[in-house]
Amino acid sequence: MKKICFATHNNNKAQEIQDLLGGKYEVVSLKDLNFDQDIPEPFETLEENSLIKAQTIFNKHTIPVFADDTGLFVEALNGAPGVYSARYAGEDGNAEKNISKLLKELTEVKNRKAYFKTIVSYINENGEIQQFEGKVEGSITEGYKGNKGFGYDPIFVPNNFSITFAEMGGEEKNKISHRGIAVRKLIEHLNKI
Ligand code: IMP
Repeated sequence: MKKICFATHNNNKAQEIQDLLGGKYEVVSLKDLNFDQDIPEPFETLEENSLIKAQTIFNKHTIPVFADDTGLFVEALNGAPGVYSARYAGEDGNAEKNISKLLKELTEVKNRKAYFKTIVSYINENGEIQQFEGKVEGSITEGYKGNKGFGYDPIFVPNNFSITFAEMGGEEKNKISHRGIAVRKLIEHLNKI
């Protein structure tokens, strides 16, 4: 079976992908490669940040590898937190602090439109690069709703739904989510070759 590395420290994400790829590829985690450092995300675009993560691993291990980078872009905040979504409330922030800062910024703001975007960067065994995008439009709630998922899920309602990502099951979220869309594009690509 072909090996492919998902350059993430998030084991939930790695398992999610293994399920989607079925028996054709063995998904290798950073832990399997004994890579326990944080990979920096120094750039201002999801494209560059996801690529540097994949490249860091490819340069060291020369196996097919992909990495993702995601941001939440809020229209009324000119696209913030965007590429800085993970660190919105500071370097030592967490999901709760990030959400609370975002809700505060949106106090009495009527325009709640926002979207999640993911870029997946893939490098094959020959070092060739391919990128896949997934986007989901929606709106920011006034308060927390639901306790599933992670990150900004409790305050994001996708368009055509009346519940947040955190009120959905993982499977339902994957069907429509930014990462689900981007990863399915990668999988389609892998299944073609
Ligand atoms: P990362 O690129 O996956 O590290 O995500 C960047 C930031 O966006 C982190 O704060 C995550 O918690 C948040 N994030 C990424 N994906 C999702 C999602 O599917 N739902 C909610 N928040 C997310």
